[in-house]
Amino acid sequence: MTIKQDSVVTFHYTLKDDGGTVIDSSDGGEPLAYLHGHGNIVPGLEKELTGRTAGDKLSVKVSPAEGYGEYEEGMVQRIPRRQLKGISKVYVGMPLHAQTPNGPRQVTVTQVLGDTVTIDANHPLAGKNLNFDIAITEVRDATAEELQHGHVHGAHGHHH
Ligand code: ZN
Repeated sequence: MTIKQDSVVTFHYTLKDDGGTVIDSSDGGEPLAYLHGHGNIVPGLEKELTGRTAGDKLSVKVSPAEGYGEYEEGMVQRIPRRQLKGISKVYVGMPLHAQTPNGPRQVTVTQVLGDTVTIDANHPLAGKNLNFDIAITEVRDATAEELQHGHVHGAHGHHH
């Protein structure tokens, strides 16, 4: 069975940056399962998996435009520390939920300088090439319920 719209695809992956540093990997853990054609994984990888089949191994380089987007300076904001009331400790690398002009988003604290906190709404992998090594372990058709929900159920998928 080849991967097409509405396939359920299970695969192992290793994700590296351009320097060869491993950013994320399913090695030694559970593989990832996703519903193909529903934007559940980055577009560049989804495109390369179309037409592949179980047992295939491939290396895919995904550009920022087809990955987590270009890095945008406009998504970096400096805010006064007092705006983060109710938070006792603010540190670099801390994830926060913030209101932005584009609605609520997850942001990361990138600098704390005196009373000024810099927050960054870019995805941590924005602006980076994504180098995937993929090993496809299973391809099957989605169930009607999975299609209705837009995600995978069962062993490696979504649990309700
Ligand atoms: Zn569901």
